Amino acid sequence: MRDVQEAAAAGATRLLVAKSCVITPSAREFLEHRKIATTLAAEETAASAQPFAEAAAPVRSASSPGAPNPRLFATPEAEAIKKEICAVGRKLWMRQFVDGNGGNISYRIGPNEVICTPTLVSKYDLTPADLCLVDLDGNQIAGTKPRTSELLLHLEIYKAVPEAKAAVHCHPPHATAYAITGKVPPNMIIPEFEVFVGKVAISPYKTPGTAEFAQTVLPYVRDHNTVLLANHGIVCWADTVTHAEWYAEVLETYCWTLMLASQLGVPISHISDQQGSDLLAIKKKLGLPDARFDPSRLQECQLADLEMPNSIAVSPNPCDGAARLASAIAHGDAEPDKSEIDTLVRSVTDAVMEAIATM
Ligand SMILES: [Zn+2]
Repeated sequence: MRDVQEAAAAGATRLLVAKSCVITPSAREFLEHRKIATTLAAEETAASAQPFAEAAAPVRSASSPGAPNPRLFATPEAEAIKKEICAVGRKLWMRQFVDGNGGNISYRIGPNEVICTPTLVSKYDLTPADLCLVDLDGNQIAGTKPRTSELLLHLEIYKAVPEAKAAVHCHPPHATAYAITGKVPPNMIIPEFEVFVGKVAISPYKTPGTAEFAQTVLPYVRDHNTVLLANHGIVCWADTVTHAEWYAEVLETYCWTLMLASQLGVPISHISDQQGSDLLAIKKKLGLPDARFDPSRLQECQLADLEMPNSIAVSPNPCDGAARLASAIAHGDAEPDKSEIDTLVRSVTDAVMEAIATM
């Protein structure tokens, strides 16, 4: 970072970078911001003699993902991320969001580099030395322990959502209770939940660890930072590992609170439409995703929110992913699998039947 700042101060517009040089993520962001291109030196000796010379060779964009760089794994930024992942792992275990070796955490530290947890290690026992570095195809490029088998789920999120820098997958009991019943919690009951999580989607069940499983979240992750995984658990993404874990906490506490309230024998009261709009405005300001920001889909979402009296769950929202899927099919961009269509059709049917039953 200091080197690139000095080069920028000296007026450089292109940098010749030695092969052995590590460009940290913050330095890469700085280069992109200042629109300074980088050229990889053909010979390391030439580069080390004159590290930031004006280059005549073809320029490689600083934002190009390129080949993964294993040296990123030893940078001070990576060491800080590793410590944060271990602290979050311990939180997940202490809050009983994971059991055995369950759950996994990752952080996208570079365009083609992701730090993740290893397989078969309790999240309570994690140390920085246990962590792995992988590329966006799931190939391990650094770290002594094998990477988590559920990494593909994280990678699909990173590839689909550029804002996603961190992902946490865990099995918190109350949220997972919703996931095993195929229901999602209703909305507009507790403000913090609306702002930080809001609408929760539920993705269909597939065998964990498979590419098929990883892709089940794709119709939902752009509009939702938190997804229930049917018969499995939850996954959350955010700008930091700490924030992704917060969303897991917010969802789990919300599901738990709804279950407690449902035992009191009186109906749960809701936040009014106007107050709900105020919460969505706060959410938009924070830059968090929500399908309800799109007015053309608002009515569709509200239809799905019709609840049975005293219910603490609603059917999965038919507008989640459906609009995107329908548009993708119409444009010939998608070949959805049959189970995905079945799930959407079933969720629409369930919402209509619930609406009829409450009339
Ligand atoms: Zn799992």
